[in-house]
Amino acid sequence: MNIILFGPPGAGKGTQAKKLQNEYSIPHLSTGDIFRAAIKNKTPLGVKVKSILDSGELVPDETVVDLVADELSNEKYQDGYILDGFPRTVVQAKAFDAFLAKNNDSLDAFIFLSVPEEELVKRILSRGEGRADDTVEKVKTRLSVYRKETEPVMNHYKDQGKVQKIDGMGSIDEIFERIKAALDQ
Ligand code: ADP
Repeated sequence: MNIILFGPPGAGKGTQAKKLQNEYSIPHLSTGDIFRAAIKNKTPLGVKVKSILDSGELVPDETVVDLVADELSNEKYQDGYILDGFPRTVVQAKAFDAFLAKNNDSLDAFIFLSVPEEELVKRILSRGEGRADDTVEKVKTRLSVYRKETEPVMNHYKDQGKVQKIDGMGSIDEIFERIKAALDQ
C-alpha cells in the first residue's frame, strides 16, 4: 500500500504517519525528518539545506525528488510506504507519478488532513520540539509557502480521483480512526 499523507504544517502528519506505520507495518518516509537528520549530522545534504529549512522555504524540487527516489529504492519500501512531506509542489507530484509509472507501481491513497489555520499555528508554537522553523515568523512563512506551492498539489490528485479529506480536529486516536476508516474502504 502506497499512501501520501498530506496537509499543512502542524496538521499532525508525522504523528499519524507513525501510528499508520505500526498499524499497517509499512515504513514512514518523512522528507522533513531526513533533512533534519542530515543537518544534525552535517552531511553534504545537510549543509546544503540548512539555511533553507531555517527560513521556512522549500528545498529545490530536484534535490527532493532525487532524495525520495533514492530512498524508495531501498528494499524496506518494497511492500509500500507512507509519504509525509512529499510531494510538496506540483513539479514533485508529476515527478512522483513518473517514478511510480517507471516502477509499474501506483498510489493507493491520498489522505488530506484538514485543520483550520488558527489551530495549526497554536499546535506548532506549543509543540516545543525546539525546531529552528517553529517561531511565529517562520510559521507564517511556512503557511504562506503551503498555500502557494503545496495546496495546488491537491488538485493534481483530485484530478486522479484520489483525495480523501479527513477532519484533522479532535484527539490523536479519533483522527487515526478516521484515517483507518478511509483506508479500509
Ligand atoms: P512541516 O510540514 O511541519 O512544515 P516538515 O518536517 O514536513 O515540516 O518540513 C520541514 C521543512 O523541510 C520544510 O519547511 C522545507 O524546508 C523542507 N522540506 C520537507 N519536505 C520538502 C519537500 N518535499 N520539498 C521541499 N522542501 C521540503
